[in-house]
Amino acid sequence: AKKEGRNKYKFYAFDENEGRVDALKLEIELHKAIENKQLLLHYQPKINLNTGKIVGVEALLRWDHPELGMVSPETFIPIAEETGLILPIGEWALNAACIQNKTWQQQGFSTVVSVNLSAIQFNQTNIIDTIESILQKTGLEPHFLEIEITESMTVDIDRTILMLQQLKKIGVRVSIDDFGSGFSSLSYLKNFPVDTLKIDKSFVKELRNNPNDETIVKTIISMAHNLNLIVVAEGIETKEQLVFLQQHLCDEGQGYFLSKPLTVSQLQEKRFEIEII
Ligand code: C2E
Ligand code: CA
Ligand code: CA
Ligand code: CA
Repeated sequence: AKKEGRNKYKFYAFDENEGRVDALKLEIELHKAIENKQLLLHYQPKINLNTGKIVGVEALLRWDHPELGMVSPETFIPIAEETGLILPIGEWALNAACIQNKTWQQQGFSTVVSVNLSAIQFNQTNIIDTIESILQKTGLEPHFLEIEITESMTVDIDRTILMLQQLKKIGVRVSIDDFGSGFSSLSYLKNFPVDTLKIDKSFVKELRNNPNDETIVKTIISMAHNLNLIVVAEGIETKEQLVFLQQHLCDEGQGYFLSKPLTVSQLQEKRFEIEII
């Protein structure tokens, strides 16, 4: 909108194809994002709900475009997936997160970095080789890297089990993200050699509002514990949600109430410490 005198705004003509045009412009711009160094990672702390200590950080992609500003991953990741650009972008993110964590280890901050994988990375590339070579190149010890996959990625169960076994062999941790939001059969879970279940934020949002969601959360926590998995709740926005999760022995938590995703310098300023109680 352009300002035209007092209280008068002139809007550009409405274009019914605007959505498409935007996506095209974004696609063109996204091609240049890596080489123009417009991509960066923010890191959201993952907190042990018993001790209040940061036990890990999740790397979250950000695209800082000179004219468009910060473009949300919710907007550009689908475009990156449609165009195949998710492969170089995803590899960039993995590499950058490992380099950053190696630096943190050298500074004396012992933390695990979690990196989100796209279904396309998981199913259409040799992601195992990519991860191994990034670990080798960066010198990051494998147990300081965690991969977050979602239930919806695991379409081919046998292949998924094979891949998870290979990741375990390398020593990389694996987390199932957005747990409960997909349709995968619970019976497969016992065959998945994963370390962590992350309860989808849609359930956490309704804690103290919706008894059904409270039951689902309690059930996921006890099921995870019976399977010897660590359980993380994401999207904790209120004290009440936090207390509920602590009372029901959820191991770890993430969310705006604990900490928003932070830049590297913000994290280092806090020296990896956050006051939660
Ligand atoms: P996700 O993996 O489920 O990540 C959690 C999202 O929830 C993040 O959004 C985070 O900023 C947001 N969040 C954290 N705490 C709260 C809270 O208390 N309330 C609410 N409402 N939201 C919270 P973000 O950073 O916009 O990322 C969105 C999605 O983009 C991620 O969802 C993930 O699916 C995808 N993504 C981000 N980075 C990458 C990446 O490097 N690779 C891939 N393949 N996907 C990524
Ligand atoms: Ca995630
Ligand atoms: Ca999630
Ligand atoms: Ca999600």
